[in-house]
Amino acid sequence: MALLQIAEPGQAAAPHQHRLAVGIDLGTTNSLVATVASGISRVLPDDQGRRLLPSVVRYSEDPEQAISVGHTAQAEQVSDPRNTIVSVKRFMGRSLADLDATATPYSLLDTPGMVSLDTRAGAKSPVEVSAEILRELRSRAEASLGGDLVGSVITVPAYFDDAQRQATKDAARLAGLNVLRLLNEPTAAAIAYGLDKGSSGTFAIYDLGGGTFDISILRLTQGVFEVKATAGDAALGGDDFDHCIAEWMRGQIALENPTPADTRLLLSLARTAKEALSSVASTELAGRSSDGREFRLTLSREAFEVMSADLVKRTLRPVRKALRDAGLEAEEVDGVVLVGGSTRMPQVRAAVRELFGREPLTDLDPDEVVALGAALQANILAGNRSAADDWLLLDVCPLSLGLETMGGLVEKIIPRNSTIPTARAQEFTTFKDGQTAMAIHVLQGERELVSDCRSLARFDLRGIPPMVAGAARIRVTFQIDADGLLSVGACETTSGVEAHIEVKPAYGLRDEQIADMLLDAYGKADSDMAARMLREAQVDARRLVDATTAALAEDGHALLSRDEYQALQQRVYELAELLQTSAETRAIKDATAALNSASTAFAERRMDAGIRRALSGARLEELA
Ligand code: AMP
Repeated sequence: MALLQIAEPGQAAAPHQHRLAVGIDLGTTNSLVATVASGISRVLPDDQGRRLLPSVVRYSEDPEQAISVGHTAQAEQVSDPRNTIVSVKRFMGRSLADLDATATPYSLLDTPGMVSLDTRAGAKSPVEVSAEILRELRSRAEASLGGDLVGSVITVPAYFDDAQRQATKDAARLAGLNVLRLLNEPTAAAIAYGLDKGSSGTFAIYDLGGGTFDISILRLTQGVFEVKATAGDAALGGDDFDHCIAEWMRGQIALENPTPADTRLLLSLARTAKEALSSVASTELAGRSSDGREFRLTLSREAFEVMSADLVKRTLRPVRKALRDAGLEAEEVDGVVLVGGSTRMPQVRAAVRELFGREPLTDLDPDEVVALGAALQANILAGNRSAADDWLLLDVCPLSLGLETMGGLVEKIIPRNSTIPTARAQEFTTFKDGQTAMAIHVLQGERELVSDCRSLARFDLRGIPPMVAGAARIRVTFQIDADGLLSVGACETTSGVEAHIEVKPAYGLRDEQIADMLLDAYGKADSDMAARMLREAQVDARRLVDATTAALAEDGHALLSRDEYQALQQRVYELAELLQTSAETRAIKDATAALNSASTAFAERRMDAGIRRALSGARLEELA
């Protein structure tokens, strides 16, 4: 596929006029805002010099300070868990059915489209909660830069689906931010490291945050990045390492039935110890459990590495998968970028170093790298640098997108891992004579059958002029914009009749679902192919039976002898019967071929008769 040079039209700034634009990393655990000043990207701190804003929102009982965000909210997390929302990113674009409601302290409401959280301030959608975080970052930026923002680039995980991206965009709008672009997090990290400065190369972005793990493989060619593959584990992050230490502590102090307060205490001590062990060889954990017992434990880095070895190993599986998807060996990767606070753990760095056989890039703060890259991108999009010198990175769509065709099959229009933005079109035709409408069913997934893929949207193309089956030319176009949002259009090209839909699914796919769908497809490739061939054979056969039956009824008696008529009808019956009774692709294909050749002479006679009919009565000058 050709690599694109993408410049945003109409956004070139007047000389010397610097437009205020920011990059925002809207993270699960922490969020950041960064901007470019004098050509350097830097994170904007709050008025107390803190760069990370905890992604925590609290709806308090105090009418003076009804909503608090960040550190203030985080301080109340333990005393008021139900009204203090953490990790809201996990709920973005998700329905209640997508989530494990027992795993959260919140009271989740099954609201249409997306889950809501029941707080003392009423039902809050994840979009509203995220908007509070974004609003806080926006005012931090405006206070620090001294003016209104022209626009922002907000990062999202590469795996975010349409609903999750849409939800993020909605949250930004709600916060009064103009979104110049949503940018995949690994892509932002690559920009931050200036990996474009080389002429070509292949890079891996290993992102282990608080709650999620993502790996992306990027390829740089002639100054343009292309995302080749992404994989990850949405339920693996720094929190799991905390749990691992907390579990060890529980064993050490023989705490049989921990209260919720005990669990919180252990987790908080565990997190502090984990972070300390990234720079010291051993640390102490001390506290008092709810049954009044004081405890003091020592944990060495070595012991921590042993107890967390499985977690580190779990991150390497998606890495190998992404490499496989990109058709690469680990040694072929020219650079590895570490993103996310959890990549500070020495055992993580060692595992990455060992797998890729090279030292990972760690110069930039792994917590800041995504925001720094987003700011560089925002700076370009706001028109502060000449568009001619710049390009925007290409991202990738994580699952194939396609359409339902006859027989319950999926025709893939945009294959998985296609770089975006992209637009692809394919022509379809009608199946029945006189068909005036066509149902368009948009699907996502790797499998061949509709029933095994996920339905994204349905719409109808109506007003197709009646024509014989196969004569209409329906061009269906799939378009994914730079933010990863899909729109689908259908147009009957002979008449110009059109229909169009912005695909906004009611809720998104979980990352695990994406991973499951891919695994499923890999395991089932052979059986899927067989199922597809059978369905195709059945569709072809049914079409021929219908067409021959209609032709026999219309012209059979006029153009065929009795014997010929009966012989042909016999073939039609045989094939129709076979369709009812057999699931043998070969047998159906053979019978279809037999009917096809048996009907050839009849078809020729019909054509001759048709021409004669058309000519009779026509005047000579009309034929000239
Ligand atoms: P992020 O989601 O990228 O902000 O990552 C937050 C995660 O990084 C949390 O689990 C933190 O405990 C973890 N983290 C931050 N600093 C360190 C450190 N020095 N060593 C180990 N983990 C850390």
